Amino acid sequence: MNAILPLYIFISGTILGSFFNVVGLRLPKKIDFTKSRSACPHCSTTLQARDLIPLISFLLSKGKCRHCESRISIAYPIVELSTGILFLSAYMHLGISYPFLGACLLISLAIIVTVGDLKYMIIPDRLLLFFAGMFIIYRFFYPLEPWYVSVLGALTGFGLIMLIIVVSKGGMGGGDMKLFGILGILLGVKMTLLTFFLATIIGTIASLLLLGFKVIGRKDPFPFGPSIMLASIISYLYGNDLLNFYFETFYI
Ligand SMILES: [Zn+2]
Repeated sequence: MNAILPLYIFISGTILGSFFNVVGLRLPKKIDFTKSRSACPHCSTTLQARDLIPLISFLLSKGKCRHCESRISIAYPIVELSTGILFLSAYMHLGISYPFLGACLLISLAIIVTVGDLKYMIIPDRLLLFFAGMFIIYRFFYPLEPWYVSVLGALTGFGLIMLIIVVSKGGMGGGDMKLFGILGILLGVKMTLLTFFLATIIGTIASLLLLGFKVIGRKDPFPFGPSIMLASIISYLYGNDLLNFYFETFYI
């Protein structure tokens, strides 16, 4: 296989990841992410073009600000690398196609939600509204069969989390509910249900690990957005494979 296109997609992913990181950090604080330029959070030196190359800048500067030598968060290269890997996985699985376009939208939302939710425990309404619009436009041109499973998917996602909020008296937040609702537009009913199932497993494992390593305390709130987004990407890319595997293995 020609390596140029996969490499191009991976590099585009890391560049977009670097941008999504900025959006994820600024949007919940209502800072305009299109105007002010990136600066070192310690010494406020404006970053130059050579400081903004995804992954490479971090490696060359050994994770330190070139001006004041203070440590740069490892979160930056992790977000860039994750976005690159996710874009590449989507391409490997789907090729250049309409579903690949949908996957790119989903991964973009995933990275921005994860950054914001881990940092501030907020999933901004403006972000959800924007991606609700994107998913509706996408499903208008590339509908599920039949088209109304997008509507039912949205209702399923919204309703499931609402039920959990009522039953658990606040185990999940309104942001999670709205997020699941708009994911339903893209995923449809079946994959929304699978996403819910996987998100519960991922969220449980993640919270147990964080508790075990004492990153969070027993009473601390746990951001559920990243688990939901990871589950939605797995469902979108591999959901049918997973379901086929399950039914072939357990229902012979
Ligand atoms: Zn600095």
